[in-house]
Amino acid sequence: MKKKIAILPGDGIGPEVMTQAINVLDSIAQKFGHEFIYTHALVGGAAYDKYKEHLPQATIDICNDADAILFGSVGGPVNAQQEAKWANCEAKSILALRKAFNFNINLRKTEIYPELAALSPLKPDLVKNGLNIVVFRELLGDIYFGEHYLGEKDGMRFASDIAEYNEEQIKSITHQAFKTALTRSKNLVSVDKANVLATSKLWRQIVAEVAKEYPEVKYQDMLVDNCAMQIIRNPSQFDVILTSNLFGDILSDELSVLSGSLGMMPSASFSSSGFALYEPAGGSAPDIAGKDIANPIAQILSAGMMLAYSFAMHEEARAIEQAVKNTIINGYRTSDLALGVGNEKVVGTEEFTKQVIKAIEHRFPPARE
Ligand code: NAD
Repeated sequence: MKKKIAILPGDGIGPEVMTQAINVLDSIAQKFGHEFIYTHALVGGAAYDKYKEHLPQATIDICNDADAILFGSVGGPVNAQQEAKWANCEAKSILALRKAFNFNINLRKTEIYPELAALSPLKPDLVKNGLNIVVFRELLGDIYFGEHYLGEKDGMRFASDIAEYNEEQIKSITHQAFKTALTRSKNLVSVDKANVLATSKLWRQIVAEVAKEYPEVKYQDMLVDNCAMQIIRNPSQFDVILTSNLFGDILSDELSVLSGSLGMMPSASFSSSGFALYEPAGGSAPDIAGKDIANPIAQILSAGMMLAYSFAMHEEARAIEQAVKNTIINGYRTSDLALGVGNEKVVGTEEFTKQVIKAIEHRFPPARE
């Protein structure tokens, strides 16, 4: 298969982990007989240096021409945010891209490998067998996009934010979440606040209607306050979580700390036409950029997600996931994952990726032309 990929490395560790993700994609292309055509484009501070803007038209054009977007991360050091190059860099790059392509669904995956369970802030007993949860968050509706008012009413200061959803917005993400549940353990939890909010009552109705089309998937509704608590008390009950924009924002951040490193979490944003952008959930980590110590896993798994979701290359995606797992089982760690115990081999970004590629090659020795 021949696929065009827009490569937007961005800033900080973005370019170095992106190089490694491309190395992994190249090894998959060779093993499975695909051709990936990469077109690089600038975004974030790197784009500002050349174009004086964070998301230039040239970059949007390259994305438009691609089958999928692989994004690194953007942004400068936290203490340099007042410089024009870095001011609101994230909003002007990634949020602007989401808007430009109408990405209405965000998917984030939290995985805890049993070998790395000790890194999790959760009690060892809760995560000793590992954890694998995906969260589907609606991105273009809810309280963020309704009317906002900050002013006065009845002689005092007053504010309101309107939350809105229509049935199409809910249907679109619900189908995507159920389809994904079918490929996993067929267990979906839809999170809302239907005991209070009208938008949540509609959410619950639509999810129940769509669920009828996926009878093999076991699903339940859960109130958001209970879900936030259950994630800490009994996380292994979750497989696919489906939720609205505001609740998804909070729950996916709660989940992002469970693996113990920001370098582990891949994510994807989809439009209703199926076009998608894939990126690590963490930031540009300027404190460790250029030192060959960044964890490349989130970027590599984002590339794997792209193969599964955008190109329907499921075996290839599984090969990447399994190779990352095997690399960890074999004791290789980037420094953020080091526990200082057992047979750990602490290696740099590049060496870790070489081991991932070795694991892919070990599984698929002869090239299939
Ligand atoms: P960050 O996620 O970049 O880093 C937080 C901590 O996690 C740092 O100590 C960093 O070294 C570590 N870390 C992150 N990714 C890692 C990896 N792959 N391997 C090893 N360690 C890793 O968050 P921050 O420091 O608050 O923000 C830095 C910049 O990133 C800011 O400019 C911020 O706006 C931007 N940011 C961008 C995105 C994005 O591009 N989507 C998301 C979040 C933050």
